[in-house]
Amino acid sequence: MFTACELGVFDLLHELEEPASAATIATRLDTSVDGMERLLHTCVGLKLLNVDLKNNEDCYSNTDVSAVYLVKSSPRSLYHLMMYCNQTVYTCWQYLTPAVREGKCQYERAFGTSSKEIFEAFYRSEKDIVTFLHAMDSIWNICGSDVIQAFDLSGFRTVCDIGGGSGGLAKHFLSANNESSVTIMDLPKVVQTAKKCFGTDERIHFLEGDFFNDPIPEADLFIVARIIHDWTEEKCLKLLRKIYQSCKPGGAVLLVEAFLNEDKIGPINSLVFSLRMLVLTEGKERTPSEYTKLLMDSGFRDIEVKVTGKMFDAILGRK
Ligand code: SAM
Repeated sequence: MFTACELGVFDLLHELEEPASAATIATRLDTSVDGMERLLHTCVGLKLLNVDLKNNEDCYSNTDVSAVYLVKSSPRSLYHLMMYCNQTVYTCWQYLTPAVREGKCQYERAFGTSSKEIFEAFYRSEKDIVTFLHAMDSIWNICGSDVIQAFDLSGFRTVCDIGGGSGGLAKHFLSANNESSVTIMDLPKVVQTAKKCFGTDERIHFLEGDFFNDPIPEADLFIVARIIHDWTEEKCLKLLRKIYQSCKPGGAVLLVEAFLNEDKIGPINSLVFSLRMLVLTEGKERTPSEYTKLLMDSGFRDIEVKVTGKMFDAILGRK
């Protein structure tokens, strides 16, 4: 699937608007015919392509699933996520054994770059930042509204999205709450790339900063999506306590993560994410009780948990 995405198989079939043979696809994508034919057959086996006989030749077209999720220009495309998984995540997965032995991330082994500052290691070039930000945004095209609509957030007018990247989730928040405005706080090179390479909204403002070491702006609501799972307990508490200090009375924090079941043996999606956090970051996935404890220890009260049944869940704590 990753290779077919990277070579542009799904995009070409979308562009051609009719089934094409392995020879045509190989010529257009500048690959060997034999290699392409094997890849296409496997994609048929994975139900990513359809195959039909035309003039005695096998001709391939996208299935509904690949047309929606793997064609780059589709509004619900996961193409960029596939590229990030292909280039970064799967390279690190090869080091799962040492990660389990050592209990730490494997960036240094996989890429030869220091993993002391994990996001510095992720962001090796502007291209890497763009791929990462697109990958982060693409998930929200699938399940952004589920996490935003998990709670009634309409009363919160000034919102700060902590580590909000290029604003994929912030845009979903604003379409559901059109009288609010969002400040996205992220690392300087991410903010600069987001401004340069991603479309924005006049209700979104960017703030360059390090959320561990720079002041966090005041807001009614803090969105903290896929941040806590990157860090150790100690760093999570440091960040959440800073957020509590900047949260206006009556305000709240919304954590968005893939929850583990309380017994920690499911759901499988969150378990795999947690192993992925081991090979890639300092963090892990947590149970609703563990997030509740982090929020309570940071000062938040009236904690509400929503398991959405989709890829990501939400938990709200109030000040
Ligand atoms: N919240 C976004 C989402 O869910 O789509 C992005 C999540 S991504 C896993 C983590 C984000 O935190 C990245 O955009 C990264 O640049 C940002 N980040 C990491 N360390 C940071 C720091 N010390 N200060 C500010 N932002 C940071």
